[in-house]
Amino acid sequence: MHDDGRYDDPRVTGPGEGTSAAGPVSRETNFEGWPASGEPHDPSTRPPDCDPVVRRDAPQAGAVRPTSSVPANVPPARDPHDPNGGPANAPASRPAPVRGNAAVPARYEPQPPVVAVPQQPTPESAPDGAAGTVAPPSDTPPAAGYGAEAPASTYVSRETPTREEDDPPLAMEAMRAVQILNPSGEVTMPRPERTRVMCVANQKGGVGKTTTTVNLAVALALHGNRVLVVDLDPQGNASTGLNVPHHTGVPDVYDCLIDSVPLEEVAQAVEGIPNLWCVPATIDLAGAEIELVSVVARESRLARAIAAYPGHFDYVFIDCPPSLGLLTVNALVAAQEVLIPIQCEYYALEGLNQLIQNINLVRQHLNPKLEVSTILLTMYDRRTRLADAVEQDVRNHFGDKVLEAVIPRNVRVSEAPSYGQSVMTYDPGSRGATSYFEAAQEIAERGVKEPVSRNA
Ligand code: ADP
Ligand code: MG
Repeated sequence: MHDDGRYDDPRVTGPGEGTSAAGPVSRETNFEGWPASGEPHDPSTRPPDCDPVVRRDAPQAGAVRPTSSVPANVPPARDPHDPNGGPANAPASRPAPVRGNAAVPARYEPQPPVVAVPQQPTPESAPDGAAGTVAPPSDTPPAAGYGAEAPASTYVSRETPTREEDDPPLAMEAMRAVQILNPSGEVTMPRPERTRVMCVANQKGGVGKTTTTVNLAVALALHGNRVLVVDLDPQGNASTGLNVPHHTGVPDVYDCLIDSVPLEEVAQAVEGIPNLWCVPATIDLAGAEIELVSVVARESRLARAIAAYPGHFDYVFIDCPPSLGLLTVNALVAAQEVLIPIQCEYYALEGLNQLIQNINLVRQHLNPKLEVSTILLTMYDRRTRLADAVEQDVRNHFGDKVLEAVIPRNVRVSEAPSYGQSVMTYDPGSRGATSYFEAAQEIAERGVKEPVSRNA
C-alpha cells in the first residue's frame, strides 16, 4: 500500500501475472473451490468452498484432484477428431494441446462449442486446479481443436461464480449449526476479565461494519458472554439486523448522547438471543452530529454513558456510521479497542490512513487506552486474485492484528437482515455463520491471552 492509502494494482504488479493473463476472465478461471496456485492459506482452516451440487456431480464427471497431472486411474481423454478414439494428447492423432489437457474429463463426448470466450492461452487461464473441473462432460469443450478458445476451466467458471459462497455438505453443516447455536448455553467462549468496549469503525460504507457487529455480538452472546450492541449509525441497520424496534419515538442512543438518559433505559433485550442487548438508533440520531457540537464534553458523551455500567457486560460493540464525524469520535473515546472490517476489494485500503490518523489523534488527546486491536477481512471472494492480494497486503501491513478467520462473501449473510436475524441464527450451518463464529472465538481467546495490554 502506498502512503496515501492507494493500493497497487495487482494486474500490473501482482505476483505471477503475465501480460495477457490480467483480464477478468483469467481471474475467474481460478475458481473451482480450490486454492489457486500459490494460495497462501491453509486448506484445513479454510475448507474448499465448493458448490455441494457440483460436488455431488463430481464422481460422474470423472473429477480428479486439482493436481497438475491426471491421476493413474483416470483414463485418457478421447480425441473427438480421432476416428479411432485415440487419446486426445496422442501425438499420432493430433498435436498435443498447448495446455489444459488434464482438464478434459475422461468421458468427453464431442459437442458443438457452447460458448466461445476469447481468451489468450496462458497458464493463468487454465491453472492446474482446472483438473478438478466437475462440470458434466457434455458441457466441456475439447482441449484442442474447435472450442479451444473456451477451455474447460473457463466454461465451468462461468457457471460457478454465484455458487462460490455455497455451504458445506449437510452433515457437516448440521454439526456446525449445533456448535454455533450452542443450545446448552454453556460458556464456550472465554469471558474477559473486564468489559471490552470495541468500536467497529471504517469510514467507508458497505465494508461490513454492521454485519460484523451484529454477527460477532450474537456469536459471543450465544456462547455465554454478556454483550451490548450500541447502534451509532443513524441508518439503524444494526437495530434492524437484531430485530430491535427503532422507529421514531423509541428511546434510543440519541437520548443518551444529547439528553444524558442512562443506557439501561434505552437498551432493549434482543429477542431469541440470551445475554444480548441493543441500544437502538432511530432517525433522530441523524441530527445528533450537529447537535453534539454545542453540547458540553461532546466527544465523551457515549464514554460516560457506557462507563456508568462497569462490569455489566463482557463486550460492548459500537457500530459506527460511515464517517469520521463526532459520532465516530464518541465511539473512539468510549472504546479501548478498534475493530476495523476491511472489505477484500480494490479500494479497500484507501482512506484507511485517514482512519488510523484519527485514531491516533483520539489516543493522543482524548483516550490513551485506545488501540487498533483487530482487523477483520470481509466479503472475501476466493475467485479473485485481487482478494488474495488484498489479504496479503493487509496482513503485511497490520501483522497479527488481522484475524486468521476471514469472512467470505456469502449470500446467507446478506439475506439474514431481511429476516431481522443474524446469519448465526438464520443459517447457522452456512459458511458465513461459521466464519463469524471463528472470528468471535478468536477475538474471545485473544482477549483472554492479552487482557493487560487491552484493558490497561
Ligand atoms: P457497513 O455497515 O460497513 O456499511 P454492512 O455491514 O451494512 O456494511 O454491509 C453492506 C452490505 O453488504 C449489506 O447489504 C450486507 O448484507 C452485505 N454484506 C456484508 N457482509 C457480507 C458478506 N460476508 N457476504 C455477502 N454480503 C455481505
Ligand atoms: Mg453500517
